[in-house]
Amino acid sequence: MINEVEWEIKKGFVPDMRVPGRFFLSEKLCETLEEGALNQLANVATLPGIIKNSLAMPDIHWGYGFPIGGVAAFDMDEGVISPGGVGFDINCGVRLIKTPLDVSEIGKIKRLITELFHTVPTGVGTKAEKKFSSGELDEIMLGGAGWVVGEGYGTKEDLIRCESNGCMKEAGTEHISTKARQRGMPQCGTLGSGNHFLEIQTVKEIMDEEAASAFGVSKDDVCIMIHCGSRGLGHQVCTDHLKSIEAATKKYKIKIPDGQLACAPVKSPEGRAYYEAMAASANYAWANRQLITHMVREIFTKIYKVEYEELKLVYDVSHNVAKYEEHVVDGIKKTVCVHRKGATRAFGPNCHDIPSDIANIGQPVLIPGSMGTSSYLLKGTMTAMEKTFGSTCHGSGRIYSRSKAKKDLSGLKIKEDLEKRGIYVKATSNNVIAEEAPVAYKSSSEVVNVVHRAGLSLEVARLEPLGVIKG
Ligand code: 5GP
Ligand code: MN
Ligand code: MN
Repeated sequence: MINEVEWEIKKGFVPDMRVPGRFFLSEKLCETLEEGALNQLANVATLPGIIKNSLAMPDIHWGYGFPIGGVAAFDMDEGVISPGGVGFDINCGVRLIKTPLDVSEIGKIKRLITELFHTVPTGVGTKAEKKFSSGELDEIMLGGAGWVVGEGYGTKEDLIRCESNGCMKEAGTEHISTKARQRGMPQCGTLGSGNHFLEIQTVKEIMDEEAASAFGVSKDDVCIMIHCGSRGLGHQVCTDHLKSIEAATKKYKIKIPDGQLACAPVKSPEGRAYYEAMAASANYAWANRQLITHMVREIFTKIYKVEYEELKLVYDVSHNVAKYEEHVVDGIKKTVCVHRKGATRAFGPNCHDIPSDIANIGQPVLIPGSMGTSSYLLKGTMTAMEKTFGSTCHGSGRIYSRSKAKKDLSGLKIKEDLEKRGIYVKATSNNVIAEEAPVAYKSSSEVVNVVHRAGLSLEVARLEPLGVIKG
């Protein structure tokens, strides 16, 4: 234990650890810590070129190879890149949109949610209203949110409010398979299933007036939170590249304690090919969230007679991605390959890539809770820059597996209970509601409290759900 919210796993916890592990957790949350996830955190510390620490946020839970809630940065020359450190849903992320409405002006939430549910394509394998051509898919993969905004699906201001302006320039389409393309073409502009959601929220509490006002939110504002990623495209890119990276792990004789940690040197042809394809999938995810934003704006202008531009993007964060970023390591600025898997970037004041009008505050950070608990808006910090390569948690984190939740809980009962609390849920099935029950997750307030106390990001505002659509 380093302090009351920061813990260390010493070298030797598993054989061949190159650096110690560090994780952030309160004593209260200790009972949620799975041994498997802790072992995964230690396993990551054995990978070549890992810098400083293998890290985990308080929403840590078991994932494919790397734990979810995990962060790891690697040296560009000695280090590796690993699809397991990004996850299958490349650039799964969250955006928050502020409406000009006050909670008292929202009217019947059931009507709004029903309308949204019928407009935003939702569920496994759903198709979008507009099918993009193969050439347009290339534009999406190379241009991200910017390309769809250019096509009329948003405003220039939106792009400034996205991490990386909604586009990773390193994207390339050369290593995207035909299968990935086929899966991606009909799905841009769809929410997806399960954990992905579109939620109407209200700002219940402001903890930091200065930051909230800079980010443009006030108490009782109605906001929309969108959580989705790169759909079948990202999943297929991950699946395809895992095969080539597994072969590369052998070719470069990299010793890994778990097959799921397959990795390749950052600058190897295989590592670069994955990075380019991953960046292309990330761009697709930004375009996806942008297209959904457009649909939401159209519904709001129709129902509430507000202007399209009055719905303002507060920010858009990615929580499943690997990026080449500049960080200070041992007092020296250098480029490293940061993996965030179920972790959110949380850059501190005046760091690179923060909109200029809020640069002095720090990057807005979005942490969803669950359909029955609070979600949070925070700001990034210099402590995060020093300790976690500018990263914080990405949610409250699962404690119930999907199968256990489905077996033990009734979706219908949860829906009714939430409705009694004024939260209207519309999902493709009651099973999805059971899988996504608020009790399936750790307490969002406790998780956020840990990152706040650890200084990895600081609370700005707390939002509560009014209604949600689930895939
Ligand atoms: P993941 O990307 O790991 O699937 O999920 C991110 C986080 O979203 C979860 O850890 C959970 O805290 C949160 N979450 C899942 N479902 C909902 C929902 O319906 N509403 C809100 N506000 N948060 C959710
Ligand atoms: Mn996600
Ligand atoms: Mn996802």
